[in-house]
Amino acid sequence: MTFLLSIFLSANAALATVNVVTTTQDLAALANAVGGSAVTADYLARGDLDPHFIDAKPSFMVKLSKADLVLSVGMDLEVGWLPGLLTGARNPKITPGSAGNLDLSGCVTKIEVPTGMIDRSRGDLHPGGNPHYWLNPENGRKMARAIAGRLAAIDPGHAGEYTKNLATFEAQLTAKQAQWATKMAPLKGTNVVGYHSTFDYFCAVYGLNVIGFVEPKPGIPPTPAHTLRVGQAAKAARVRWIFVEPYKNPADARPLATLSGAPALLLPTSVGAEPEIKTYFDLFDAIVLKVAG
Ligand SMILES: [Zn+2]
Repeated sequence: MTFLLSIFLSANAALATVNVVTTTQDLAALANAVGGSAVTADYLARGDLDPHFIDAKPSFMVKLSKADLVLSVGMDLEVGWLPGLLTGARNPKITPGSAGNLDLSGCVTKIEVPTGMIDRSRGDLHPGGNPHYWLNPENGRKMARAIAGRLAAIDPGHAGEYTKNLATFEAQLTAKQAQWATKMAPLKGTNVVGYHSTFDYFCAVYGLNVIGFVEPKPGIPPTPAHTLRVGQAAKAARVRWIFVEPYKNPADARPLATLSGAPALLLPTSVGAEPEIKTYFDLFDAIVLKVAG
């Protein structure tokens, strides 16, 4: 009897949590925040790596084969590595278009979306707009709402919990946004250069002007002519920093730093970019601390 009861209980426990697999650590942090104890959230791409270029490991396919819900950033961020993994996982629950597959780009405010014809032939990593939208905290709110909504749809038994967790997250986010805005206010109007266009959303929210990039186009390595042009413009604009992602080679930003007189500043781009950045709030706390003190 005890044996049967324990089998029954463990079977129930296994069904009681939604197995969420996310492409990035940011999405796993949001899934944990709104899912709480009703979900287990695992990620594929470590936050200290370039999310455009992730080595698809066999272990990723194993994770996806057992997933109830897959969360992705979309906008072509994972186009180089996720589609093959989804096919290889042979899990009908998470095929694109099904309830177990949520591309969060559908619920956020996007920038740098091209209005003309999309040209993928020139190696641009952002053909459909800038996919680094999680660096706008208001997009974080929209993503959390979408995740909570989808969790409630596939796991209605815990819908109340998801609603409650989301409310807690949103209240914390609102309080944090006020802190970040206060700290960032003196930096309004500051000119900066980006390496890649990762921080465009963050800069737009807090009024920093991105006047150029180390890369001539997203994903294209710098050329001497481009560096000279941006370096001269950056010097004239008295640029304060060159924002560099943790996975970019800071040496590539050095010629531009020399020309412009602005130092390179390494900024975290995702949860997990540094070991102490564990939550979505930690990420903004860390970025704001580095630029505003
Ligand atoms: Zn990018």
